[in-house]
Amino acid sequence: MAQTYKIAAIPGDGIGVDVTEAAEQVLHAVAKAHGGFQFQFTTFDWSSKKYLERKWYMPDDYVQQLQKHDAIYFGAVGWPNVPDHISLWGMMLPLRNSLNQYVNVRPTRVLKGTTVPLAQLQDNPKHLDWVIVRENSEGEYAGQGGTTHGHSDYAIATEVAIFTRVGIERIHRFAFEMAKSRPRKKLTMVTKSNAQRHGMVLWDKIFYEVAKEYDGVVEYDKMLVDAMTVRMVNKPESLDTIVATNLHADILSDLAAALAGSIGIAPSSNLDPTRKNPSMFEPIHGSAPDIAGQGIANPVGAFWSAAEMVRWLGNGKLDHTADQLMEAIENVTSNPKTRTRDMGGSASTKQVTDALCQEVAKIV
Ligand code: ATP
Ligand code: MG
Repeated sequence: MAQTYKIAAIPGDGIGVDVTEAAEQVLHAVAKAHGGFQFQFTTFDWSSKKYLERKWYMPDDYVQQLQKHDAIYFGAVGWPNVPDHISLWGMMLPLRNSLNQYVNVRPTRVLKGTTVPLAQLQDNPKHLDWVIVRENSEGEYAGQGGTTHGHSDYAIATEVAIFTRVGIERIHRFAFEMAKSRPRKKLTMVTKSNAQRHGMVLWDKIFYEVAKEYDGVVEYDKMLVDAMTVRMVNKPESLDTIVATNLHADILSDLAAALAGSIGIAPSSNLDPTRKNPSMFEPIHGSAPDIAGQGIANPVGAFWSAAEMVRWLGNGKLDHTADQLMEAIENVTSNPKTRTRDMGGSASTKQVTDALCQEVAKIV
């Protein structure tokens, strides 16, 4: 009997729906070509559109419902008439927090056939090959703080970042292990401890504690986040694995996605490294209301996220299959006829998806 992976699909809003459908089609094609496993998808209609009708994003027992699955595949959430902080706190942040997904991993490289804004990278696409490891459970997005004198001219608000020893140590350890698993064995830690003298100083201190365990194994250095943006643009080849706080990594990974060509390409994984809860895989782009429902969304970020999901589910046994899927994706992106508009082509989401399924049948 082939192994069955149970996937909870949450397409969400806008193009999240289009790209999730595309990713499902591709994942079924991968399973069919491989023959050793299959996917069983259950779709949850949790979205901003539904929120406007029923005033809730997820039911009270969402954790129990999701825990019945091996992984979660997420499209995008957000819609113009729902404030962003409502949708983020309605779905994304509770999911990450209650499923212990304390790591967010964002691989970035220049896929074949992409046009990138930096001339240096256009000539040497291999100069950009990074993994950004983002702290996903605390820091600046801890949601702590308050407002007083709310509606007056003297309004005051605090936004309190929370850094814990447990939280800092586990993210740095994960980042060192990630760096160690990659050919260059190189880790850059991002901080702002020159200006933020409490949480960020603890962040640095614990980094060097963990670093001792990797002396001679992983090469490491430290960058202030402002200088880091400059280095990412001017010397991309000097970076490999990057670890940063929730806020810093959020911003740096959008910069990374832009340097790699299009926000429509970049993937992200929200991981519970203990594997006690399902991890969640999603393209980094949002719901893109301007192109929703037109069938032209770039599904490549969704496909790359699907490849990362296969890698995670296999836990070492499906790395080759995930690599084959990536190879198939690059065969599709390198053909101008199977690129979407944001990549300079004119193909529809469906045309790109069908082309990838054909490649998968040949390669996997
Ligand atoms: P969010 O707040 O959910 O992060 P956002 O407002 O930051 O969303 P996105 O929805 O990620 O923005 O995208 C910004 C713009 O980039 C979109 O309006 C769209 O034009 C373009 N875009 C994003 N993703 C894609 C994609 N997959 N294919 C094509 N274009 C895309
Ligand atoms: Mg955004």
